[in-house]
Amino acid sequence: MAAFCRGRYRWKRTNCSQFVTRNLTGTFEYHLVVIGGGSGGLACSKEAAQLGQKVAVLDYVEPSVKGTKWGIGGTCVNVGCIPKKLMHQAALLGTALNDAQKYGWEIHGPISHNWRTMAEAVQNHVRSLNWGHRVQLQDKKVKYLNVKGSLVDEHTVKCLSKAGKEETLTAKNIVIATGGRPKYPTHVPGAIEHGITSDDLFWLKETPGKTLVVGASYVALECAGFLTGIGLDTTVMVRSIPLRGFDQQMAGLVTDYMEAYGTKFCWRSVPKSVAKLSSGALQVTWTDTQTGQDKQDTFDSVLWAVGRVPETKSLNLENVGVQLNQESGKIFVGADESTSVPNIYAFGDVGEGRPELTPTAIKAGKLLARRLAGQTSELMNYDSVPTTVFTPLEYGCVGLAEEEAERRYGKDSIEVYHAFYKPLEFTVSERDASRCYIKVVCERSGDQKILGLHFTGPNAGEVTQGFAMGFRCGATLTHLKETVGIHPTCAEELTKVNISKRSGLDPTVTGC
Ligand SMILES: Cc1cc2nc3c(=O)[nH]c(=O)nc-3n(C[C@H](O)[C@H](O)[C@H](O)COP(=O)(O)OP(=O)(O)OC[C@H]3O[C@@H](n4cnc5c(N)ncnc54)[C@H](O)[C@@H]3O)c2cc1C
Repeated sequence: MAAFCRGRYRWKRTNCSQFVTRNLTGTFEYHLVVIGGGSGGLACSKEAAQLGQKVAVLDYVEPSVKGTKWGIGGTCVNVGCIPKKLMHQAALLGTALNDAQKYGWEIHGPISHNWRTMAEAVQNHVRSLNWGHRVQLQDKKVKYLNVKGSLVDEHTVKCLSKAGKEETLTAKNIVIATGGRPKYPTHVPGAIEHGITSDDLFWLKETPGKTLVVGASYVALECAGFLTGIGLDTTVMVRSIPLRGFDQQMAGLVTDYMEAYGTKFCWRSVPKSVAKLSSGALQVTWTDTQTGQDKQDTFDSVLWAVGRVPETKSLNLENVGVQLNQESGKIFVGADESTSVPNIYAFGDVGEGRPELTPTAIKAGKLLARRLAGQTSELMNYDSVPTTVFTPLEYGCVGLAEEEAERRYGKDSIEVYHAFYKPLEFTVSERDASRCYIKVVCERSGDQKILGLHFTGPNAGEVTQGFAMGFRCGATLTHLKETVGIHPTCAEELTKVNISKRSGLDPTVTGC
């Protein structure tokens, strides 16, 4: 096998027959060392190993402030997408139980939810995924090290074990995929001592009880949504706007629905302090920024969902020459995920300007591995990544928000088609469908290329995923209208939009 030998900063391929530990000849132990075994790091390391590269992946979880820890797999598996979607499902089932009675199911006795049962089941599933990842790494001959990595120089990684043992690894290429962690506000007394974050929520053994969720990101709204859905008294505190970066009309529908669903909102409010009372309850004081008045209430839990910080601080990046955005703490990356040091790459949540989403991290990681192995020159395309917010009323979208399309193209150069529709399933159960809405933002001229597609309603992720492919292929309004619907579905309604906002006509869909 060819190994990679080096002079001081120069590279040449040699015919060394095996890898040896870093020694006088300067041969590297690995083609690739990946720091971070989350969505991106695991995908990258497995792909590289499959392509014949010698790979090591380092994954280490720093316990949360509350001491919560978890296994390999990163945010998505342990404290993100997976437990979140399962708890969202728990909430949807609660709503379905109510619907069920209208459909003839006879449910005797009161319906109640048991956090412990749900949490145990979710946590067991997560542990099975941790195990699955370890097995896959073994099968693919990726060396997995449960150690904290940092850079010594551009080819050397320091590994620090939990027991404090240190060793170094050398590699031709190094990949940083260390993701991010939730932020705590530093200016709110009591916030850190008494609050939790999404890193803790999914691993709680007991119900969080009456909960204040601070923040209005998708993480905040999703958590508040499922907490409400399983019957907990839940309040969301919003400083400015919900779902920043998303289409604001759609964001309004999502939060309106949540309010009707039972989530309480404290709009335009900022937390001031959190104090623990002798009863154990948390007394939260906040300021209503519109009136300037302070208000108070007590909660069992305060969940901070006020943003995330990239895990870049302890990597010794800058000393090795890897440039960071000083404000965001993220790593400046090129289109090929390269950093300012030629053989060091970064992607996923640590990459400046990258979407903080699992599928983009996975795809970017696989493509990087293929490029490093000389299999392809294909770059990750980060344009128009579809996504879905798993709130009680789900919201899926791909492409531009209406306000962003207006900003880029001008109001007169876009046409927005929309429809309020009623999912068939909502009729018998008499569920409120007033926020089930579709919006297709198009160019105004020609075939009316679709610029953005937005959908609120059941299974928004499934609906949006399909249309995202059409979008990727450059779909126009004509294509959408030519598409035959699948009856009777909610997705079908997208193929039928024909009322433009400009026309001022009622966009409510009537009939079937
Ligand atoms: C509550 C929540 C819900 C989410 N829901 C969705 C969703 O529905 N869909 C979606 O697409 N995305 C979702 N995300 C985002 C998604 O989880 C992340 O974008 C994705 O996990 C990022 O992958 P990554 O590989 O960049 O980092 P991560 O998955 O975070 O992995 C990084 C890993 O590196 C480890 N690490 C850090 N520093 C070191 C070090 N020095 N040495 C060794 N290891 C280290 C970390 O412990 C971690 O295991 C959600 C996130 C949250 C918080």
